[in-house]
Amino acid sequence: MNRSVLITGGSRGIGRAIAESFLAQGDKVATISRTGDGPEGALLLKGDVIDAEQVDAAFKEAEDSHGPVEVLVSNAGITRDNLLTLMSPDDFRDVIDTNLTAPALLAKRALRGMMKARKGRIVLIGSAVALAGEAGQANYAAAKAGLIGLARSVAREYGRRGITANVVSPGLTATDMASELNEAQVEKLLAKTPVGRMATPQEIADAVLFLASPAAAYITGVVLPVDGGASMH
Ligand code: NDP
Repeated sequence: MNRSVLITGGSRGIGRAIAESFLAQGDKVATISRTGDGPEGALLLKGDVIDAEQVDAAFKEAEDSHGPVEVLVSNAGITRDNLLTLMSPDDFRDVIDTNLTAPALLAKRALRGMMKARKGRIVLIGSAVALAGEAGQANYAAAKAGLIGLARSVAREYGRRGITANVVSPGLTATDMASELNEAQVEKLLAKTPVGRMATPQEIADAVLFLASPAAAYITGVVLPVDGGASMH
């Protein structure tokens, strides 16, 4: 579609699948990650999303090469799991900074060009734990829940300018992040998943591509679970 697409955390896992999928449909893709790795054909920018200067420099480089960002996918995320009583203040703050503050500042930066163009798509990668909570993930669940309020506020503020903001909410997905869980944790999560298996990164990417597509122009402020039914109740 030849749009300018910016994806955070495109070096591996879900973000890489998202980047590959946009590339496959002919979009111009830039990714930001700390390693600067990513799929061939994308503009691979090195940067830490919690560093405002690095994000600004990467944004500028993406826009110089591809034009104003038309689709922002905020995907970069980390976990620092522990029970809240044992969680260090730094582990709480790092997770909030990476998973919530960075997406908000990225969206703010992307909105500049989107407002001018009177169109834009913002897709935030949330998590099924946002609404359910998860033992050991108070920091992560709080950050992911925050993304919902962020997306819905952006949806209200800029809907009239042709900009949508939505959250894709993956369940357990086969990436490096999921491989940090032990067998018992995986079994427990899959027992609550009607489809009975993890998602592939591609299945998450497919939902992101839909929300960024012209077919989703009237969908904004939604949380789209891609979790094999795990969040049904
Ligand atoms: P991975 O750990 O496999 O990949 C994380 C990506 O984020 C990497 O590309 C990493 O790149 C990047 N990243 C992390 N921190 C930063 C940072 N500070 N600055 C720039 N880039 C950063 O995770 P997944 O692919 O599994 O997760 C992607 C998203 O999906 C996350 O938001 C996660 O919370 C969410 N999610 C994942 C689930 C799962 O089961 N896997 C379930 C639900 C949600 P680099 O290391 O090069 O910086």
